[in-house]
Amino acid sequence: MTGLKALGHEVTDELVFADNYVINTCAVTKEAERKSRQFVGKVKRINPKADIYVIGCASEKNAEQFSIKGVKYVSGTAKKEDVLQMVSGVHIAEIPQEYESMPIGTNFRARAYVKIEDGCNNFCAYCIIPYLRGRCRSRSIQSIREECVKYAENTDEIVLTGINVSCYGLDIGTSLPELILSLSDLPVRIRLSSLEANIVDKNFMDAIVKAGNVCPHFHLSLQSGSTAVLQEMHRHYTAEEYKEKVDLIRSYFPSAAITTDIIVGFPTETEEQFKETLAFAEEIAFANIHVFPYSRRFGTAAYPLGSLPDAVMADRVRRLTELRDRLKKAYESPFVGSDLEVVVETSDGVFAEGYSENYIRVYVPDRDFTPGKKITVTIEGERADGLLAR
Ligand code: SF4
Repeated sequence: MTGLKALGHEVTDELVFADNYVINTCAVTKEAERKSRQFVGKVKRINPKADIYVIGCASEKNAEQFSIKGVKYVSGTAKKEDVLQMVSGVHIAEIPQEYESMPIGTNFRARAYVKIEDGCNNFCAYCIIPYLRGRCRSRSIQSIREECVKYAENTDEIVLTGINVSCYGLDIGTSLPELILSLSDLPVRIRLSSLEANIVDKNFMDAIVKAGNVCPHFHLSLQSGSTAVLQEMHRHYTAEEYKEKVDLIRSYFPSAAITTDIIVGFPTETEEQFKETLAFAEEIAFANIHVFPYSRRFGTAAYPLGSLPDAVMADRVRRLTELRDRLKKAYESPFVGSDLEVVVETSDGVFAEGYSENYIRVYVPDRDFTPGKKITVTIEGERADGLLAR
């Protein structure tokens, strides 16, 4: 978006009438892929004469599914800059670096997202991403820092993102702890997106403490609480090792939010193994769980294993979701009466809302808040989907 803006285009991420639409597709699940296709239909209905450009994972995986009338250009995850060139009719020089990035900009509403790497080396049995995005390629610390410095003028929170941020730096002789330390002087809080358990060790935790501006929120990808299922998934840790990582985090930050992703209904997952996951989630006391029903992806190692019956999947999703809601409440309730620091995102005129440092959704009666700015609030009570402050 920022590249298009820099070239003088009026740009929006709202679904409104436009001459050109750039659709960044996702293939992480079948549902995401279906929604990407649906989106093409939606924008065609808004302006049947528009030029549509389709990029991203889903189109890289299967370009043909987007060969629809009105779609002018279909590409994958690389060479996104071609879209700038095609929309604008001007030549954009290729960026001569292994990490392919869009130009730096300031396009965000509240929190800023800074991509630090692309790709992943892990090849989990259920995941198509490494086949589509390739191996881990890290962006230089200098380039990340430049972008963060720019964003820090307009926001108090920067989220470091990527496909697998835990592998950051391995290909360029640096590391995530080094990156964290290099951002420690910025006047913003840094939030780390999804982490793999293997990144958590004393060196990593010491860097976070030393930096002093990293949120006490660790989204530590679990996927299953059964070691046998983890092995089938080609995940490289046991449930016990995962627990040790959580214990280490809590020895540094006792009330840190530990959140996670869990895949429900991996094809070999038995009822007993699913119960192990429920018990493990309870033991860890996750602050939040993203519950993903297993999605069979052609081309992955797990594809030949088939899928569990829909009724079994639905039942397990329901049970884990219920547990998730209970654990989330149990984590959030004790903060009533405490002060939290919230970066305001939006307001409906009655309540402003945003996330606390430990990733709790907080609602504050609206006053004169600026999106992206941090405020300290006192928590007074609970809402169905978060906490209420004054
Ligand atoms: S670590 Fe994440 S991105 Fe990499 S293969 Fe596993 S699930 Fe996919």
